[in-house]
Amino acid sequence: MIQALRGAFKPKTDLGTLHSPELGEVEKRWLIDCVDSGWVSTAGPFVQKFEGMLSDFTGSKHVVATSNGTAALHACLLLVGVQREHEVLVPPLTFVATANAIAYIGATPHFVDIESESLGIDPDKLEKHLKQTCQLQKGVCIHQSTGRPITALILVHVFGLAAQSHKVAEVCARYNIALIEDCAEALGTKIGTEHVGRVGMLSALSFNGNKIVTAGGGGAILTENATLAATAKHLTTTAKRPHAWEFYHDQVGYNYRLPNLNAALGCAQLSRLPRLLAAKRTLFNTYFDAFSGLECHLLKERSGTTSNYWLQTLLLPKATLEFRNQILNALTAAGIGARPAWTLLHRLPMYTNSPRAELTMAESLEPRIINLPSSARLGDDFT
Ligand SMILES: *Cc1c(COP(=O)(O)O)cnc(C)c1O
Repeated sequence: MIQALRGAFKPKTDLGTLHSPELGEVEKRWLIDCVDSGWVSTAGPFVQKFEGMLSDFTGSKHVVATSNGTAALHACLLLVGVQREHEVLVPPLTFVATANAIAYIGATPHFVDIESESLGIDPDKLEKHLKQTCQLQKGVCIHQSTGRPITALILVHVFGLAAQSHKVAEVCARYNIALIEDCAEALGTKIGTEHVGRVGMLSALSFNGNKIVTAGGGGAILTENATLAATAKHLTTTAKRPHAWEFYHDQVGYNYRLPNLNAALGCAQLSRLPRLLAAKRTLFNTYFDAFSGLECHLLKERSGTTSNYWLQTLLLPKATLEFRNQILNALTAAGIGARPAWTLLHRLPMYTNSPRAELTMAESLEPRIINLPSSARLGDDFT
């Protein structure tokens, strides 16, 4: 495997990191402009520009920038009405932030299984689980064994692969469950010709340093609904009533504003997104060829969808955690920045008692996933 990996690139290519941002002259220029303007903090023109560029790129009608993706998810949950003692359906194979955002409200993540092609929530298993364990009472989906309402579901587009938004949305609609899409890893991912994140009532993006586009840190909320967008802006900007000089806040709001300095970096990166996406696709093809003769295989976009190929994911043949760890140790010793998938969230101490469906697919995939060095630079020298 190490030979296949090294052989795919020019000698001396740095494969030491899983993902590094691609930063250059464009980024410097926008950041200098921002500093020169004097507006580096929570007010300034780049935030609106960033929101506009994201709206153009995703086709989403409204975009509200936030301080990070976790904050965006937290706000999305509040906006669809999730409250203390509610349950929110989530996959166990995701970054911990997806479940933490639920816990911030005092609600409980309720784990449902994934499918093997996209690593997203399995719509058929979801439907079966709801049928067996829940009942609609006065239009509210009640989880029978806990008596708690299930009011939302967060669909995660893992590693840039498009999950089955439309099928999951149909199931959610039947049970009156609000659909939120976690698109933190999926900027540039499409289903047909439509960008992901437009099926759910609200969606979240992240611009953390390891994502395909970084703003240093940052996030965004996407929605088609003007009222939700206005409420999202209000809630994430300390709930201050607009006024020339008065300080009046009409509810407990959040300081989830994206600083102008971060927005400037985000704008510069977005201006390069088409080329970053092309580089990722080239890298996918390079790995795909390199591993074609071996038993393991690379996860590929489902037909009819376009992955942003943010991370290149290798699926080992039947594996145990011990076998996977041996491979990761060998790759690390060879200076290759490969990483496993996240520890499944229902195995983390704060979520071991959370309700869950059978998670057979997630549990069988966990030891088989290895993410390979995936920086855009490995697919394009950007000269
Ligand atoms: C990165 C990420 C987040 C959180 O984004 P931050 O900007 O780091 O807060 C949420 N969900 C997923 C799936 C992510 O990969």
